[in-house]
Amino acid sequence: MAEFNIAVVAGDGIGPEVTGEAVKVLEKIGEKFNHKFNFTYVKAGGCAIDEFGKCLPEETLEVCKKSDSVMLGAVGGPKWDNVEGANRPEKALLGLREGLGLFTNLRPATMHKALADACPLKPEIVEGGLDIMIVRELTGGIYFGDRGYRQGKYGEEAYDTEAYSETEVKRIAKNAFEVAMQRNKNLVSVDKANVLESSRLWRKTVDEMSKDYPEVKVSHMYVDNAAMQLVRNPKQFDVIVTSNMFGDILSDEASMITGSIGLLPSASMGAGTLGMYEPIHGSAPDIAGQNKANPIAAILSAAMMLKYSFKLDKEAEAIENAVTEVLEAGYRTPDIMSEGMKAVGTIEMGEVIANAIMK
Ligand code: NAD
Repeated sequence: MAEFNIAVVAGDGIGPEVTGEAVKVLEKIGEKFNHKFNFTYVKAGGCAIDEFGKCLPEETLEVCKKSDSVMLGAVGGPKWDNVEGANRPEKALLGLREGLGLFTNLRPATMHKALADACPLKPEIVEGGLDIMIVRELTGGIYFGDRGYRQGKYGEEAYDTEAYSETEVKRIAKNAFEVAMQRNKNLVSVDKANVLESSRLWRKTVDEMSKDYPEVKVSHMYVDNAAMQLVRNPKQFDVIVTSNMFGDILSDEASMITGSIGLLPSASMGAGTLGMYEPIHGSAPDIAGQNKANPIAAILSAAMMLKYSFKLDKEAEAIENAVTEVLEAGYRTPDIMSEGMKAVGTIEMGEVIANAIMK
């Protein structure tokens, strides 16, 4: 029997509701495949400000560091909108990423056949569903580079700098190749190497790393073309690796193609196996506490944790298949409801998915 320690940072708003369902599903996986998952609940975000006066108490970070993985719900909400900058609930996320050394963001864009109607693209473009993984660099590039104001030729000007070291590119490229090896072994590295020096170093480093992964087919694409290809022919992509800013933009574009914010998981990884897994959505204060939130993004985040942190591919697939089955059977939370489907709440959706696993 394998045993795993999971820190649960449920957070605010719908965070505790959706992570509660993900825990329920993981317990079923434990039962079926004979694993033991130990959950330790810790606080971050608004609820931690209320209880400890800090968005990220030291104890939370310590528990997360000692765990095999971290499951996060969402943080923030109007109650804490006036908290001063450094202690805002969302700062807890940055603190966790930094404290846990997480520099890779994995954002899958998966479209379920049963929800094809929610996709804004023509049906023939996405026929058969979509399954893209965007691997975004998370702690470098222009969002963290040298910035400021100075006197320029036309008066005051502002500047931000994109800089990447070879080490930074190597470590994100390594994670991307590893992810490609667990999928269809097709990696597209996105850059702007026709204009940017930092992109030329990026491209060269990815090419060098490709020698260690001969099974992975690597190609390069300029970011402007990648943005176009994502809506023209998204099925050509398996794994995309790119810088912080390009990844920020492309991952939002890709998630729109799939139609619903309540369905998409994400992961942040570092150099080891510890990762932080969370839905891409926020704390949705407008529907919190009403049993209306879609727990599928949180449940699929748990599946990513099984796959990428614990290397439990079969178990991850069991969750993904259960989600597909339940959607095909017509179960819908309000955000994805359409005529003729079966309306359910957060708890019921979690239950039908958990039951589908045990079948
Ligand atoms: P949001 O993602 O919370 O909500 C946007 C819209 O999507 C809302 O109408 C909401 O009801 C809906 N929605 C989101 N998740 C859903 C789900 N699982 N099921 C059904 N509907 C869902 O974004 P927002 O409104 O911009 O932000 C709300 C709060 O969340 C803010 O305080 C923001 O800072 C915070 N936030 C946190 C994270 C995070 O913790 N990772 C990410 C984004 C926003």
